[in-house]
Amino acid sequence: MNRASSLNPWGIRSYDHTDVRHLPAYQRAADAIGELQRALHAEQPDMRIDDFHHLLVDLAAGRRILDRCPTCSAGPHLPYRIEHDDNGTTGHYECGCGHTWFCGWGITRPYTLADAA
Ligand SMILES: [Zn+2]
Repeated sequence: MNRASSLNPWGIRSYDHTDVRHLPAYQRAADAIGELQRALHAEQPDMRIDDFHHLLVDLAAGRRILDRCPTCSAGPHLPYRIEHDDNGTTGHYECGCGHTWFCGWGITRPYTLADAA
């Protein structure tokens, strides 16, 4: 990921999504990212573009540890906070009912797109 700079104030990098651009989910994701960007701007107008890019990467990575609410079974939910260190990964969650919980994960193999299917 490129960092924003005076020469690249949007922190954009060269990329080619030709192989996936036809997927309806690709456009829906782009639309959802735009909606998120507008909502964040309304709440945090000073958010740096690098922080927004990191948030998007974190959202994608957090999908590895989606979890259902242990109280009402709603979900699966994306963790709103992750703590990762040499001992493992802990996700923190909140469901739409306001229940909060955390769960530790032992991630021992690479994450593939098949895991997200
Ligand atoms: Zn719940």
